Amino acid sequence: AQAPPQQTGEGVKVIIRIRPLNQSEVLAEDCTRAVTCMDDYTLTISPDKKKQRSEEACTFTFDSVHQETSTQAEVFEEVGIPIIENVVGGYNSTIFAYGQTGAGKTHTMIGDPECGRKRLAVEGGLAPRVFQYLFKKITEEEQRKRDEYGNPEELHFSVRCSVLEIYNELITDLLNPKEVNLQVREDAQRGAFVDGLKEVHCQNASEALRLLFTGAQNRKTAHTRANSKSSRSHYIYTCFVERTSKSIDGICQTRHSRLNLVDLAGSERNNMSGATNHQLKEACHINKSLSTLGRVIKELLESQKHGGGHIPYRDSKLTYLLQESLGGNAKTTIIANISPSSISYHETLSTLQFVRRAKYI
Ligand code: ADP
Ligand code: MG
Repeated sequence: AQAPPQQTGEGVKVIIRIRPLNQSEVLAEDCTRAVTCMDDYTLTISPDKKKQRSEEACTFTFDSVHQETSTQAEVFEEVGIPIIENVVGGYNSTIFAYGQTGAGKTHTMIGDPECGRKRLAVEGGLAPRVFQYLFKKITEEEQRKRDEYGNPEELHFSVRCSVLEIYNELITDLLNPKEVNLQVREDAQRGAFVDGLKEVHCQNASEALRLLFTGAQNRKTAHTRANSKSSRSHYIYTCFVERTSKSIDGICQTRHSRLNLVDLAGSERNNMSGATNHQLKEACHINKSLSTLGRVIKELLESQKHGGGHIPYRDSKLTYLLQESLGGNAKTTIIANISPSSISYHETLSTLQFVRRAKYI
């Protein structure tokens, strides 16, 4: 494989994941492959030759490109492990799944939520793997310190988890769905936080996974009522990690870090002709938070390079509440999920352009 591309600084890490063609794409007569993977970092996308003559093939280079054959374990190894190392070290970290509806965001983030908790722990996507590795890592760290000093008090971790949804710029607590329209607040000690959000203490990976399931269940119940708004809302699973260590002279020090797993709303730009006011408002909110996210990441990149600059965190709930988890010492990874089919050409191209802007000035 070729050497990875020249990067413009730390910035965000951008991974592309191409899902396999689905049944309806395979059966569709006019469906061809629009995306070709060139090597581990490069892909090209070209329109269906017959239909869109004027459009040329485009080549994109990213931190890595995962083909259809790539497994959940491979994605976790590349994306999950460095993020957890960062969190356990005391720094905030965020993984986003970006892409149009049906491109594989939830598959990548969670796995198939229908397959049950036990199976998800083995075959699941990032979240179950992240939980397992996080608790394993914490236990190892605590053990290492204990062996070193012979004192169980030397290092201690505590983990709390929360699950929330942002829909139309309204925050709902998915562990306590009666709580709708929660507000983001800010204070010197905690930074930005969601006021009144339930944060549940977890002792191990299976407790964290259980909460994820409760959240997913509540997400589903809410959406059968409000006909499939699920693709139009953002989900944020957060682990709050508290690391308390004692120095040789007995002074306790506590560090807080957050790990956010974000399953974003579908990035598709729907045809808005004939849309109701409600649909227009919805689309407007989605566009606002996704475009704000894009601008925040871009401004962070610019300010890293040239200094200064205003970062528009407060322009959306999503970026406001994640502000301490983007930029600075925080590690951010975006997984752009795409379909390889020519039917999705325009949406895929716009996904690739969005994440390229996040990567390069
Ligand atoms: P999104 O959350 O982006 O709307 P999903 O994750 O629900 O999309 O994926 C849509 C469908 O495609 C699901 O049935 C999912 O199981 C399947 N799928 C997505 N990515 C993959 C993949 N990498 N391998 C196999 N199936 C996948
Ligand atoms: Mg989804």
